Order: sequence, then structure tokens, then C-alpha cells
Amino acid sequence: MSKVKKGSCLCGGVTYEVNGPLRPIIGCHCTQCRKQTGHYMAATGVKLSYFTVTSDRGLTWYRASDTARRGFCATCGSTLFWQADGADYIAIAAGTLDGETGLDLSGHIYCEDAGDYYQITGGTFQKDQTGHSVETPE
Ligand SMILES: [Zn+2]
Ligand SMILES: [Zn+2]
Repeated sequence: MSKVKKGSCLCGGVTYEVNGPLRPIIGCHCTQCRKQTGHYMAATGVKLSYFTVTSDRGLTWYRASDTARRGFCATCGSTLFWQADGADYIAIAAGTLDGETGLDLSGHIYCEDAGDYYQITGGTFQKDQTGHSVETPE
């Protein structure tokens, strides 16, 4: 897992690199993630010490709650990041990683907020009102 992984938004204005272990992917079906992504959030995560934003053109932060901020590209609209205040890690929207991730989907949280138009599948757990804090990487 020492290989540097890269990612970007759709227009390429925001780019980032990860040079440490990424957490398995968690699907978050909370109302905020559903609104932000248009479906639900599938995110990995990494310790901040392994994370670098290499271009921040268009990177904008939005606070949907008092406890966290959400990073997106104001040019192309890509959902990028989720970060709890004071946390030592950042959640990364899995679809913004370039190439093969080598990651597995571990499970789902906030399942009771999920839309009625899809089935929640994959992974080994489905939790209800579980805080985003369970998304802490190893
Ligand atoms: Zn963009
Ligand atoms: Zn969520």
C-alpha cells in the first residue's frame, strides 16, 4: 500500500494524492450524503498525514452540519471529500480515485435514510443511525 494513489474531480481542477493505507469503502445513505451526491456516498478514507491536495482550483467546502465539512469542485460539481472537525483523517469519494483502487466495499451506514428506489447490497454490514465517526481508517 505504499504506492501513491492519485485522484481528481471531473474537470481536473482539484487533484490529490494518497501515500498511505486507504480504508475499505463505506456507503453512507444519510440525507446529507444523498443530497450532495445525488444518490449515496461511497467513500474511502485516509489519515491526513498521508493525504495531499496537489491542486485546489475550484475546491470549495460546504458545511451541512455543525460537525463536519464537505469538499466539492465548484467548477464541475464533483463530490470529493468529507471531513469531521478535528478529525485526523479525511473521507474521499471513491469514484474520484484514478485507476484501480484495490479496495473492497465493507458495508453501509445510515441505511434508514436510504432512498426507496434502490436495494442496499454489498459489504458485510448495514447500520442505521451510525455516526460518520465509524468511518475512521485503521
Ligand atoms: Zn472540477
Ligand atoms: Zn452521510
